[in-house]
Amino acid sequence: MDLMRRIGVMGGTFDPIHHGHLVAASEAALRFSLDEVVFVPTGQPWQKSKGDVTAAEDRYLMTVVATASNPRFTVSRVDVDRDGPTYTVDTLRDLAAIFPDDELYFITGADALEQILSWHRAHEMFDIAHFVGVTRPGFDLVSDHLPRGAVTLIEVPAMAISSTDCRTRVEKGEPVWYLVPDGVVQYIAKRGLYRNGASPSRLEH
Ligand code: ATP
Ligand code: MG
Repeated sequence: MDLMRRIGVMGGTFDPIHHGHLVAASEAALRFSLDEVVFVPTGQPWQKSKGDVTAAEDRYLMTVVATASNPRFTVSRVDVDRDGPTYTVDTLRDLAAIFPDDELYFITGADALEQILSWHRAHEMFDIAHFVGVTRPGFDLVSDHLPRGAVTLIEVPAMAISSTDCRTRVEKGEPVWYLVPDGVVQYIAKRGLYRNGASPSRLEH
């Protein structure tokens, strides 16, 4: 009989993925003995308007590049491939169908955790996954507003990095080395992402 596995789920826009995301996932994996962490880049995020977000395919590929070297990290296309705005409750339903015998742990930073009750069908999410709230510099990590037992808070090494800051740096010609994995630095340059607000060329040839 197969043992129940413990699967972490790291959702995000990943525009671009940075070391804050990777450390959060790695620490959650350590603390909860996760067998795998599935990174799930959003499709069109419902809080962010269209045009403000890089093409899903570019964000998906940066996430693949960033996680490729870790045998426990994988990337899922469930949100990228689903039409319409991305809601985490749909992400979790899709992953529960893919991992029907396993336990899901949804990993989220302090800023996202603060707002989680405003998410679409929030209470259903707590039935599908256990939530892991991780510290993030500049935000208070609290769970008083959440159902008892639904969330565990953990402290992770403080990484004062945001995707917004990475995008601004690239636009200003400043380096993002050491903030994002090397392969992501190279992918951003190759695709001309985040420069002068210009939209990069389409991916298909
Ligand atoms: P943006 O500035 O575009 O909002 P971001 O850096 O916040 O980007 P997201 O893709 O929005 O990155 O975040 C995905 C998840 O990762 C969220 O749960 C967020 O709280 C968490 N997260 C992002 N950066 C960090 C960090 N530096 N430390 C801990 N958690 C983080
Ligand atoms: Mg964010």
